[in-house]
Amino acid sequence: MSAKKYLVIASTLSLLFPATLAAETERQHGAHEHGVSQLKIALDGKLLKFELEAPGSDIVGFEHEAEDDTQKKSIQSALSMLGDPMSIFDFPVAAGCSVTASDAKFETEHEEEHEGEKHDDHDDEEGHAEFHVTYSLTCTSPGSLANLGLKFFDLFPNAKELEVEAVSNNGQIALEIMRGEKTINLSSIVAPITN
Ligand SMILES: [Zn+2]
Repeated sequence: MSAKKYLVIASTLSLLFPATLAAETERQHGAHEHGVSQLKIALDGKLLKFELEAPGSDIVGFEHEAEDDTQKKSIQSALSMLGDPMSIFDFPVAAGCSVTASDAKFETEHEEEHEGEKHDDHDDEEGHAEFHVTYSLTCTSPGSLANLGLKFFDLFPNAKELEVEAVSNNGQIALEIMRGEKTINLSSIVAPITN
């Protein structure tokens, strides 16, 4: 995904969710909640974008740089699953979605992020790490996206909840999807099928 396109989504979201975004920023500066991943979905015409942030503990069971080969493999395997939106979601065939870009990163807390911050109460062992994932897709019939299938919880047993914010020209929704739920109901933001 290009940085430019991402900025467009971010500004759309901040217009529609000023309060939510402020809370989000605060949360990123503090600790995320283990068990809870954040998912943003933006539908703009046929363009569908996702941003997923998942605590390292939910995905690989630890939150630091890999310290041995086993951990390295866990990260690589997680990145390859997370890097494929088709493995995380089950897109309705009728929606005709195809992936145009995807990116998955494991982000540990780096020194540079702490410049100017006090280190006294925050040593590395208490740090957090997250998987940060973005996808872009085009969907020929976005009206058919009303029920987006979810495979995320099947892949990651430690993940308990997805906090979802979804936005389109039709509106915005915030949903809490708990483990055990199999779909994300996007019907209120998906455009009615008119053509
Ligand atoms: Zn954490």
